[in-house]
Amino acid sequence: MIFDPVPKESRKDFFDREEEIEKIKSLSSPITLVLGLRRTGKSSVIRIALSELDLPYVYVDLRKFEEKGYISYRDLVLELQREINRLIRKFPNIIDFFERIEGVKIMGNEVKLKWGGNGRVKISSLLESINDWTENKAIITIDEAQELLNLRGANLLPAFAYSFDNLNKIKIILSGSKMGLLYRYLSEDDPKSPLYGRAMNEIELQPFDAEKSKEFLQSGFKQLNINFNEFNIIYEKLGGIPGWLTYFGYYYYEERDLNKALSKTISTAIELIREEFDNFLKTRAIATGRYLTVMKTVTNCATWSEIKRALEAREGIEVSDSEIYNYLNQLTDSSWIVKEEGRGYCPSDPLISKVFSL
Ligand code: ADP
Ligand code: MG
Repeated sequence: MIFDPVPKESRKDFFDREEEIEKIKSLSSPITLVLGLRRTGKSSVIRIALSELDLPYVYVDLRKFEEKGYISYRDLVLELQREINRLIRKFPNIIDFFERIEGVKIMGNEVKLKWGGNGRVKISSLLESINDWTENKAIITIDEAQELLNLRGANLLPAFAYSFDNLNKIKIILSGSKMGLLYRYLSEDDPKSPLYGRAMNEIELQPFDAEKSKEFLQSGFKQLNINFNEFNIIYEKLGGIPGWLTYFGYYYYEERDLNKALSKTISTAIELIREEFDNFLKTRAIATGRYLTVMKTVTNCATWSEIKRALEAREGIEVSDSEIYNYLNQLTDSSWIVKEEGRGYCPSDPLISKVFSL
């Protein structure tokens, strides 16, 4: 069902995005990037592509570490261990390929990966074993990969670069909601980055425009045999992010009342966005008030000087250009705001605007 508010695994529950799914499935470069604001459908298109490709894969979702603000090597290794053991259950012969790797202990039908102390397991060795084992290709997916910026005590970029150059059967898929952060993490354009100059297959999921949003809702309601025609007001109130439209469809299905469904969707959105913004602020606690001021100021878009004025008015002191530059950069990198030609800085999603105008 299109309006089921969980990531989808199959096209029968999914609307459009055919081209994007095909582009992921092409695996035309050793590394594929799937970019897009939160709730535009990244995890869904990846899962659908994985299920249709029918290749062995590892899928690690780093979303849950966002709240924690950092990822330890132990966290990452345990995620990989779980996925590798899932692969072993499906393809028992793979276990032989892990036998002689440093930091891997075979216990019955399972592997235990050593994450600390001497001789901890190397990610590049794990990738190498999977590459040696697989006949065709194997896919390593890291969902919300910008969180790797917060990985402590290890750096995965050399392993990715090694895989890019040498492991021709390994295909890596990285997704990111915070696009600026993901680019910063990969720093493909920086000669000092291990991934410098490596061309990647890049897919960006845009929010739907008014027409697509209407078609999305039409397809969802058609599946449910519900007659619905108020498309314009929905786009006006919610914008075109598929995740919010999905909640709306789901609540309308439950309530059969436009206003109730809309207000339920908006409350859900406000709650989620607040939680996500709190996570953003966690590591920036000293500037909380300033970030909130910036977000309140840009609800209907604002220029640099309007933002500067608002910040200074709040505290009655000068706020330097470099500080302002830093706040705007951080908010942009984490996709809270976008710079729009002729309008200045704007919230990236109309519902973000709503949260900060309350
Ligand atoms: P992301 O990983 O980008 O945050 P998800 O794949 O989790 O996005 O999608 C967010 C929500 O929106 C999920 O409930 C998903 O099912 C729904 N969704 C997104 N795009 C579509 C689509 N094209 N068709 C049907 N549902 C969608
Ligand atoms: Mg996701």
